[in-house]
Amino acid sequence: MPSLSSTILVAGANQLLTLAGPSEPRRGADLSRLGLIEDGAILIRDGVVAAVGRTSDVRKLPGARKAKQVDATGKVVMPAFVDSHTHLVFAASRLRDYEMRIAGAGYEQIAKAGGGIVSSVRAVRQAPRDELLARTIFFAQQALSYGTATLEVKSGYGLDGESEIKLLEVIRDASVFTRAEFAATFLGAHVVPPEYRDRRGAYVRLLTRDLIPQVARQNLAEFCDVFCDRGAFSLEETATILRAAKRHGLKLKVHAEQLTRTGATALAARLGAASADHCDHANAADISGLAKSGTIATLLPGACFHLGLREYPRARQLIDGGAAVALATDFNPGTSPTLNMQMVLSLACTQMSMSPAEAISAATFNAAHALGRAGRIGSLEPGKQGDVAILDCEDYREIPYYFGMNHCWMTIKKGKIAWWREKE
Ligand SMILES: [Zn+2]
Repeated sequence: MPSLSSTILVAGANQLLTLAGPSEPRRGADLSRLGLIEDGAILIRDGVVAAVGRTSDVRKLPGARKAKQVDATGKVVMPAFVDSHTHLVFAASRLRDYEMRIAGAGYEQIAKAGGGIVSSVRAVRQAPRDELLARTIFFAQQALSYGTATLEVKSGYGLDGESEIKLLEVIRDASVFTRAEFAATFLGAHVVPPEYRDRRGAYVRLLTRDLIPQVARQNLAEFCDVFCDRGAFSLEETATILRAAKRHGLKLKVHAEQLTRTGATALAARLGAASADHCDHANAADISGLAKSGTIATLLPGACFHLGLREYPRARQLIDGGAAVALATDFNPGTSPTLNMQMVLSLACTQMSMSPAEAISAATFNAAHALGRAGRIGSLEPGKQGDVAILDCEDYREIPYYFGMNHCWMTIKKGKIAWWREKE
């Protein structure tokens, strides 16, 4: 009887990075362990990793000969990137903000000129659903072309019931048209929308009493996130919103200590959040709190780069202090318009003194933890999902070293080719 199973063999990799190891988030020296196999191969059956090892050994396994063959000679094969923090659904770029900032304008000046987050909110509220859907699919395909197979995607540019739900439905609907996998996050607490400026309490109540219950009931998001900072939500408001989300079964994320230190990292650790993101101004107490928790510190150097900042998150202190660090793009039109995780690795290495190996662990295995998916993705081990990036370099250190380039040659999602350079 003909088999209906689909099997794919990726063989001859100069370096196969398995990231195999303990299931817990990687900390300290464990971040440097990539589980490297020279002349490596991986066999994926029905979307699941069946075997990983030396090419000569894997080739001998049942099904390997008849499998679809992918020749990775001279290349690096690794788990596909997991981009655990994006604001991928938006209606327009913010080119005027960009030029104003280059010319020296600050956040307040840009907002006064009609730019900033509020301009993205205006654009999303007006945008037809189909247009948002098409853009979301386009960007998901872009992410695949850079070796990213799973992305967290936040709402947060709607900021009213109808528009926030529209964004979450677009995320849900877009996943039908792309092999990229989405984890949806409700970020109704991005900023207080202009119409609620003088009644913040009413907006927090709208979130906690109406929108969070609705999002949870309709299963539109897995996570709830709050931007806790100057100009956004206070620590107290953040706690109120996150507790409501937790009661409704949503997992938690926080934009923490980006512009100022607010204490949101400690709150995230206390509430058992999946991640505290940014952490630019995290202090020693925040770091030791993270070290004792399962909360991942997701660092977003793309935002620092695009904003032209001199100071980056202190990855060394975080890693040496025992925090489990992840890396993500923070893809958004205001502060980090990139989907290139390889560029994020470059920034992590040169601006944050992470080693290439640490950066790769942070962008795959720990990022999977930040999305509650480490049991399924983030490493290449038997039984895990066949999500693979194949990069056209001989050594993994070339990925950050040749910065700003796209080394990705093929992206495989659940054992299926999701993007291939030679097919473009
Ligand atoms: Zn963000």
